[in-house]
Amino acid sequence: NRRIVLAQRPNGLPDKNTLRLETTDIPKVSSGQMLLRTVYLSLDPYMRGRMNDAKSYAEPVKIGDVMTGQVVAQVVSSDLDGFVPGDYVLSGSGWQDYAISDGTEVINLGQPPQNPSWSLGILGMPGYTAYAGLLKIGDPKPGDTVVVAAASGPVGATVGQIAKIKGCRVVGIAGGADKCAHVTDRLGFDACIDHTSDNFAEHLNAACPDGIDVYFENVGGKVLYAVLPLLNEFARMPVCGVVSWYNLAGLPDGPDYGPAIMGTILRMKVKVQGFIIFDSFPQSTYKDFVRDMTGWLADGNVQYKEQIIQGLEAAPAALNDLLVGKNFGKMVVKVG
Ligand code: NDP
Repeated sequence: NRRIVLAQRPNGLPDKNTLRLETTDIPKVSSGQMLLRTVYLSLDPYMRGRMNDAKSYAEPVKIGDVMTGQVVAQVVSSDLDGFVPGDYVLSGSGWQDYAISDGTEVINLGQPPQNPSWSLGILGMPGYTAYAGLLKIGDPKPGDTVVVAAASGPVGATVGQIAKIKGCRVVGIAGGADKCAHVTDRLGFDACIDHTSDNFAEHLNAACPDGIDVYFENVGGKVLYAVLPLLNEFARMPVCGVVSWYNLAGLPDGPDYGPAIMGTILRMKVKVQGFIIFDSFPQSTYKDFVRDMTGWLADGNVQYKEQIIQGLEAAPAALNDLLVGKNFGKMVVKVG
C-alpha cells in the first residue's frame, strides 16, 4: 500500500520536501467497514490551502497524515450493507492505494459507471461549483457578457458553456494559444484571451465591447485588475477561487489595489459574493445540477476535457503543474 503524506508545510510552491511517499501494509478490515482500492485521485487547487496551518473552511492536513483528496475507488471487501465488492464509489480517501471506510460520506456509483472519473469533475465537485456559482450568484441573463479565467479547466470551462446555454456572450481567459483555441473551437466560447500575451488588458477590453456583467472569479491577480475597469453597473462577481495567489507566503510587494477594487465595487454597485461549494447552496440546487448536467452531456451541449496522470507517485509534481497552469483540462491521477 503506497500513500503520500504531508511531510512539511510549504512556503510558497510545494517542493520535494513537502510530500513524502510511504509504503505500509494493506489495512485490515473490521466489522462495519469496507476496504477501498483507489482507481482515480482528483487533483484540485484547494489542496494547496490544506497544506497551510491556517484558519479556513476545512481543517488543514496534519504533518504525517495522508494528503486529503477525493477519489473514485473500487470496493475490495465489505461488511457494510449497500456496498459489495466491485462497486465503484466516490470517497474522500486521499492520496493512497487502499483505505478503510465505514461508509460515511461515501457515494455508491454502481458497477461500473460509464465514465467513473467524471464524478471527480464535470459530474462532481468542480462541475457543481461552476453550475451553482454561475446560476445562483452570477445570475446570468441572455445577452450579458460573462468573463471567466482558468477557462480550459473544469470549473471555468463549465461556467462558460453553461453561460452560452443561457444565451450570454462568453469571454474566457486562459494561459497560452493551445488552451485558448480549445476554449473557442471546442467549448464554443465567443472569445478567449491569453493572459500571458503582451497587452492582455487591452485584448480583454477589445473582447468586451459592452463591458462585463458577470465576472466569475477563479484566479485573482492581474486578471482581476484587468477586469475591474470593464465591470458594468450592477455586475455580479461570484468569488470562487484566487488560484494565482494560493502560493503567496505573505502580502506581495507592489501597488495597493485596495482602492481600485473597493472603489469599483462601490461606484458600479457590483455584487460580490464568495462561496464554498460544500455548504453554500441547498440540496435542491445539487439535484438540479445532476439533472441539467446529465442532460447537457447527453445532448453534446457540454464538452469535457481530462488530463490523466499515470501513477500515484506522479501526483506531487502534477499538483504543482496545476497550481502554475501547466495542466490542460481536469487533472486526474490514475492510481490503480
Ligand atoms: P484548473 O484545472 O482550471 O487549474 C487552475 C488553473 O488556474 C490553471 O490551469 C491555470 O490556467 C490557472 N492559473 C494558475 N495560475 C494562474 C495565474 N497566475 N493567473 C491566471 N491563471 C492562473 O482548476 P479548477 O477548475 O479545478 O479550479 C478553478 C478555481 O476554482 C480555483 O481557484 C479553485 O480553487 C476554485 N474552486 C473553488 C471551489 C469553491 O467551492 N469555492 C470549488 C472548486 C474549485 P491557465 O493556464 O489557463 O491560466
